[in-house]
Amino acid sequence: MNNMFDLSGKVAIITGCNTGLGQGMALALAQAGADIVGVNRSVPSETAALIEKTGRRFHSVIADMSKIETADLAIKEAISTFGKVDILVNNAGIIRRNDAIDFTEQDWDDVMDLNVKMVFFMSQAFAKQVISQKSTGNIINIASMLSYQGGIRVPSYTSSKSGVLGLTKALANEWAQKGINVNAIAPGYMETNNTEALRADENRSSEILGRIPAGRWGTPDDMAGPIVFLASDASRYVHGYTIAVDGGWLAR
Ligand code: NAP
Repeated sequence: MNNMFDLSGKVAIITGCNTGLGQGMALALAQAGADIVGVNRSVPSETAALIEKTGRRFHSVIADMSKIETADLAIKEAISTFGKVDILVNNAGIIRRNDAIDFTEQDWDDVMDLNVKMVFFMSQAFAKQVISQKSTGNIINIASMLSYQGGIRVPSYTSSKSGVLGLTKALANEWAQKGINVNAIAPGYMETNNTEALRADENRSSEILGRIPAGRWGTPDDMAGPIVFLASDASRYVHGYTIAVDGGWLAR
C-alpha cells in the first residue's frame, strides 16, 4: 500500500508555530514531508531549527494574525517562496479570563478577531489560491473542549471556539465539492503557554487532571498523528468533522 500519510512535495501554512501546539504540528507535518510556512508575531527560531533538522524547508512570515491583511500576505509569501499551497492549519489563538459580568469589549473583540474571524478570512484566502491553482487542499482548524462545553470565566474564548466548530462544517459544505477538505482538531487540556495560568492554580489543575481518563495532560506531540491524518490523503473522505484529542475528556 502507498503511504497515504506521506506529505512529500506539499506546502503547509501554519499560524502561531513559535511554541506550543503550533510548533508540535509544524514539526509533525515536516516529518511527514511537507515544507512549512509559519506565520508568527516574532521570529520562530526554535521551530525553524527543528524543521530544518528534518531536511524540510521553513519560511517565516512575521505578521499579526489578528489583522485582516495578514491573510493575503501569508498566501503571497507562500507562493513566492514555494510556488503553491496545499495545507492550512489555523492554529494561532488567545484566551482572556474574567467573570462574564466584568468582561470588557476589548477582551471580547481581541479573542473573537483572532480565534474565529481570522480563521474564516485566512481560510477564504487559502481556498481562493487552491481554486486558482486547480489543485486540492486541506484546512485544519484548531477548536477546543470549549467548542462543546461552556468553560469557566472565558466567555469570548468559548464563543470563538464554538464558532470554529460551526465554521468548520459550514466551509466543508461549500468546499468539499471543490476538492478542499475542511476539518478541525479539538485539543483537550494540553501543557502549553495557553494553560499556564490554569496549571498554576492548584485546585483547578488537580480537578482537571482528575477528570482526564488518560491520567495526564496532553502535549504538543499528541497532535502529531491527528494533524498528519487530516492533512493527508488518508482523510480524503473526511469533511466538516472535529476530532477531539483529549485523553478521553469528552467521553467522561
Ligand atoms: P500558545 O502556546 O499560547 O500558542 C498560541 C500561538 O498563537 C503562539 O504561537 C502565539 O504567538 C500565537 N499568536 C497569538 N496571537 C497571535 C497573533 N495576533 N498573531 C500571530 N500569532 C499569534 O497556546 P497553544 O496551547 O499552543 O494554542 C494553540 C491553539 O490551540 C490555540 O488556538 C488554542 O486556543 C488551542 N487550544 C489549546 C489548548 C491547550 O490546552 N493548550 C486546548 C484547546 C485549544 P506568541 O508566542 O507570539 O504569542
